[in-house]
Amino acid sequence: MQRAASEASPSAPLEPTAAELIAARPALSRDALDGLLFEGVPLAAIAREVATPTYVYSAAVMRGRYRALADALQAAQLRARIAYAVKANDHLAVLRLFGALGAGADVVSEGEIARARVAGIPAEGIVFSGVGKTDRELVAAIDVGVGQINIESEAELDALSGLAAARGRRVAVAFRVNPDIDAGTHAKITTGLARNKFGIPASEIPRLYARASALPGVVPVGLAVHIGSQIFSIGPLRRGFACLASLAREVRAAGFSLTRLDCGGGLGVGYANEPAPLPAALAGALGATVRELDVEVVLEPGRWLVAPAGVLLASVVRIKRGPDHAFIVLDAGMNDFLRPALYDAWHGIVPLAPRRPGESVPADVVGPICESADRFAADRLLSPLGPGDHVAILDTGAYGRVMGSAYNARPAAAEVMVSGSCWALIRRRPALASLWSDEEIPRWL
Ligand SMILES: *Cc1c(COP(=O)(O)O)cnc(C)c1O
Repeated sequence: MQRAASEASPSAPLEPTAAELIAARPALSRDALDGLLFEGVPLAAIAREVATPTYVYSAAVMRGRYRALADALQAAQLRARIAYAVKANDHLAVLRLFGALGAGADVVSEGEIARARVAGIPAEGIVFSGVGKTDRELVAAIDVGVGQINIESEAELDALSGLAAARGRRVAVAFRVNPDIDAGTHAKITTGLARNKFGIPASEIPRLYARASALPGVVPVGLAVHIGSQIFSIGPLRRGFACLASLAREVRAAGFSLTRLDCGGGLGVGYANEPAPLPAALAGALGATVRELDVEVVLEPGRWLVAPAGVLLASVVRIKRGPDHAFIVLDAGMNDFLRPALYDAWHGIVPLAPRRPGESVPADVVGPICESADRFAADRLLSPLGPGDHVAILDTGAYGRVMGSAYNARPAAAEVMVSGSCWALIRRRPALASLWSDEEIPRWL
């Protein structure tokens, strides 16, 4: 291990080597001839056939992580449902895979509702979250018959009640509580502090629950909490669940029915091999706080299920040597993968080819975009690379392709899924002309 660069996540004082990164990820292995394998597929073969940048997802990793979480919840004797947070990776094949395992979907827009339905996830399994649901989106959710809408404010409750009643429908609602808890994560992905835009203060919940019970068109069934993402300590999660549990007791004591607690997502991933909390720890915290209420528990994991199931393949375009710095310039940029630029996120970078002889020199790994934020790693020590060589940026299955843009008129990365020794192209690289196919030049110009 070498000293970490400044962008390393706070709990990772040391940067793992490529060998350590591969060893910690069971689906990745290194073959002396074929180089880096994902499950049984040589990634270099995909880079050759599909070109780069290309996201590659492992079906086995997604299935394995889903089952590990489901098993931990069952072992803790919880009646639990997993509603996969679609925003982490909304590809239809990913949704189909989780749907086939029994997952529902946590969605935040009309588009995500439609994606989940197209992928075959039943409407009853859909939870509609989100702080800015428009009337149009609420109507779409009512018409589809989603299983739960998480209410973010009294005004939203009133709007939903009116819209549902006008259609002769009744929708199950849960109130998203803002427990004013610091999740200890990056400021841009913390959501449970009083000053964040999410949720309703705990003090308001009993009154709103009682009000909703008397409103037409809505049936209050429970409470919800989601305090942030990439959470590394179970303590804040447990405090969030405990807050829900105590409010649930208060609501029941007032004579109302409450059958469901939606305990959100947020479980962290060890991008730099830092020890992340395990599903058993999450299940333990749920067991200690909500089990005795005998409610149905809903979980909304996104990142934890898919981040380690993806790699982003890129090619080296150029090696640039400045006066005191070397730059490895890739053909993937912040338009393909935004997390390093947006959150200073640390991601492992591993060359696809078997190790070359020669001395490793620390270099900044950067993209082609005209922004200095377009940097995947600072002072990274990689085995020697030259133009045309391929690398894999690890753990890019969550908040990767979905946060992509066409900035600098770059078409989106292609996407591939591997399973065992097969692989399939699941999204073609769009043609350049698709970048402007929706644009019009006014006739008078
Ligand atoms: C983003 C989000 C999730 C998923 O968060 P992860 O950190 O990816 O697990 C779950 N629930 C809600 C309400 C969200 O906004």
